[in-house]
Amino acid sequence: MHRILNTIVYILLLLSIAPIAEAKDFVIVIDPGHGGKDAGALGMRTNEKSINLNVALKLKRMLERDMDDVKVLMTRDSDRFIPLQKRADFANRKHADIFISIHANSISSKSPAHRRINGAAVYTLGLDRSDTNLSVAMRENEVMKLESDYSTTYEGFDPSSTESYIAFEMMQHKNMDQSIALAEAVQNQLVRTAGRKNNGVRQAPFWVLVRTSMPSILVELDFICNPAMESFMASENGSTKLAKAICNGVKRYHSYSSHPSSDTPRNEKKRTAEEKPEITDSLEEQILDTPDTKTKDTDGKIIYKIQFLTSPRVLRSGDKRLKGLKPVEHYNDRGTVKYTYGSYQSMSEANAQLKTVKKKFPDAFVIKTCNGKRIK
Ligand SMILES: [Zn+2]
Repeated sequence: MHRILNTIVYILLLLSIAPIAEAKDFVIVIDPGHGGKDAGALGMRTNEKSINLNVALKLKRMLERDMDDVKVLMTRDSDRFIPLQKRADFANRKHADIFISIHANSISSKSPAHRRINGAAVYTLGLDRSDTNLSVAMRENEVMKLESDYSTTYEGFDPSSTESYIAFEMMQHKNMDQSIALAEAVQNQLVRTAGRKNNGVRQAPFWVLVRTSMPSILVELDFICNPAMESFMASENGSTKLAKAICNGVKRYHSYSSHPSSDTPRNEKKRTAEEKPEITDSLEEQILDTPDTKTKDTDGKIIYKIQFLTSPRVLRSGDKRLKGLKPVEHYNDRGTVKYTYGSYQSMSEANAQLKTVKKKFPDAFVIKTCNGKRIK
């Protein structure tokens, strides 16, 4: 009798486990930057490719140990050269749910700060106006020149020409919201778990992120040109902490991306409604001739603008979400694109125009800017 009961219990257990085993794995592609003939940035005693690989291998083991439903794949697990395009192709082919490229940062030895600079930053794809972010991406993209036919593979793109990057403004990632959420979760842990200085979540045009079709981030662990940071990243303890930090960030991201908040469908509905073409009215013409876009806020002067919309990415001119409002300007605030209208010398001038903008964007409000940045 006992034996029969045991068998029944066993069968029931199997039945209850079966659907779980069939559930789709969460596929993570880890991309240790550089490898083989491409050493990446150089330190005093080691190089970027070795640090990246070591942290990546530890990260893989931790993710497999800590997460049940996960499949972790690597673009390389040894010291091999893999072209940028192949790394992205691999992630796409494996239908990865997320893509994490691991790198160590560096600045020119000509810069007086190169032995002192420190901190971690996580990048998502985007074109920030900042020269610093662009130069990090240019350095990381430079590796494509090691491929003999790089201009064919990368469609004439020249990683060291600033002009080449202008086209990136159009190439915004469709997974921008999730990429930013993942970047924020990982960056937060690099500070908390690995004790890195917080250099923030940033946007820059990294080729490897352009070509991936899932939420993707590029982690710059810390600066290899700073000998103290190099020692940390190359040490057993340091590399474990860095891997642990990324692992914690991924777990956080996964826990909230697999339990989306209940108001998501409502938001989506709202967005569709907003995208419906609007019947344009005379309001548009009224607005058209008022703003003085010639007012340049470059010389430390306080300029008032009307902020009316935020977006995870830069919108094309004429996008329906702008509701015909023009001319508009945008600025980047920690990975979010914020749209403004008009430039006014005084708060009262801005408030006068605000009423008109509010007819289209009820949540619009006036912001104070200086040298193109919002100030409080
Ligand atoms: Zn790198």
